[in-house]
Amino acid sequence: MRASRTRSGRRCSKRSGRTRTSTGTSARSTTSGCSRFPRRAGRPSTPGRSGSTSRTGSNARPRSEPIPLLSGTTRRVARNHDAAAWPLGVGCRHRGGGVESRVTIVGAGPAGALLAWLLSSRGIETLLVERQSDFEREFRGEILMPSGLRALAEAGVELAKDELLPLRFFEGWMNGRAFIQADADAAGGDFLPPSAVSQPKLLERLVAMSEATGHFSLERGATVRRIERSADGSSVLHVRSDAGDSKVEARYLIGADRRGAVTRRALAPRVRNRGAMLDVVWFKMAYPEAWQPGTARFVGGRGQLLIAIATADGLLQMGWVILKGTFGDLKSRSHDEWVAELWNHADSELADHIGRHAETITRPFLLNVVSDRVLGWASPGALLIGDAAHTMSPVGGQGVNIALRDAIVAANELVPAFSNGGDVDAAAARIEPARARELDVIQRMQAMPPRVMLGTRGIHALARRVASRFLSTSFGQARASVGGRLFFDGVVDVELTV
Ligand SMILES: Cc1cc2nc3c(=O)[nH]c(=O)nc-3n(C[C@H](O)[C@H](O)[C@H](O)COP(=O)(O)OP(=O)(O)OC[C@H]3O[C@@H](n4cnc5c(N)ncnc54)[C@H](O)[C@@H]3O)c2cc1C
Repeated sequence: MRASRTRSGRRCSKRSGRTRTSTGTSARSTTSGCSRFPRRAGRPSTPGRSGSTSRTGSNARPRSEPIPLLSGTTRRVARNHDAAAWPLGVGCRHRGGGVESRVTIVGAGPAGALLAWLLSSRGIETLLVERQSDFEREFRGEILMPSGLRALAEAGVELAKDELLPLRFFEGWMNGRAFIQADADAAGGDFLPPSAVSQPKLLERLVAMSEATGHFSLERGATVRRIERSADGSSVLHVRSDAGDSKVEARYLIGADRRGAVTRRALAPRVRNRGAMLDVVWFKMAYPEAWQPGTARFVGGRGQLLIAIATADGLLQMGWVILKGTFGDLKSRSHDEWVAELWNHADSELADHIGRHAETITRPFLLNVVSDRVLGWASPGALLIGDAAHTMSPVGGQGVNIALRDAIVAANELVPAFSNGGDVDAAAARIEPARARELDVIQRMQAMPPRVMLGTRGIHALARRVASRFLSTSFGQARASVGGRLFFDGVVDVELTV
């Protein structure tokens, strides 16, 4: 332990080592259906559970009925929308040392897990493949805007009190001055505040709900390493897990495995990159005792931005927004030097907290910020959603919300097509146009604040001074709240119709 002085002159302790403080744990739930592959060829999949909650019960094949074999060899896979050859309720099964599935979703993040729930709860057999065996191991955003909370409510996902923390106090600081201090309670009765939601708990909840439908299988700890596409639109996924290598023959493939990941590579779509001038260093630390629960503070000035937000697990999530490409310099410094640099950019109260509790800072994680959009989310037998279709900048905490809303729109289109033997590719092609406007508006809005906050020229410093004065006037706050509403509520209405 070494002692150092805080900005306010008080002595505090810093450790050169770092400790993880995340306390959340997640039980590894058992998988149903085609779990634990590879299996011996011909071994039947586990029968579905009784008491299925399928919304399209009349479509579901009774679980006691034998699985009809497809004609042709083991390698042959029927077209994804050939409902006669692959009636609903059949699910995934083991063939030729691999697994064959009707709908395969790669990636159990918010987009993949919510869509899996929406499909399986409507009687559509769904296999979800996730590389992590524990949802705690994947770092993702924890702030849900009202638009994301409403998407979950539409999908029938009720969050327990200990799973979410409403954010009630918002503070903006610029150049050492607090220019906004807002209390969500003052906004009136029907205002739904953004909330910090534990993502591991939410994802555990979604897969548990899906498993209870009897139309769902989850493969955890299974990484899709390569995808072969066939001319008929089907795909063969090469999967590696602790149990060894195996194959999944996917009649319909949904990529929800984030940017640059395996499905985007396999589908090789055109991508429009918007560029991004920032990177974010993320970490968690102890929550300041003096702060009200549910506080979010944004500290701008001197070409940097600090974000400090309460999390559902009682900690403080910190995002240190830096100019793209400058992380190498930070990384080369010792922990104490790194924290001292961070401390320099905080307002006096936050700096004091960082100085006193530096030993609680978790290992920092660099988010290489990208803002892009795939042009052509749907191709024969395949669809991209969530970050796999559009990588979001973290500005405005939009990624999880947009991913959840993608899943709702995808379900609206895909469920009727799968249920009625309709043209799935035509249905999938309608999803991107339905989401395009929201994405364009949000991605354009996300690009603005970093230019002002991070610019290093004199003109940028002037812009920051003008912005901080403007935002402290009631007119400026009214203008800002118009933009804020789009971040909070979304740009278009998204409702679940199936
Ligand atoms: C540090 C950080 C902070 C953020 N803060 C916020 C925030 O506050 N609010 C907000 O709304 N958004 C935030 N975001 C963005 C948000 O997390 C993402 O936009 C959102 O998680 C996207 O959801 P998704 O389901 O599309 O993808 P993801 O959540 O990225 O899920 C993809 C899943 O696919 C799995 N996967 C990847 N490759 C494979 C493979 N080959 N085989 C099998 N599985 C695979 C991954 O393990 C992962 O579980 C943040 C992101 C980061 C990294």
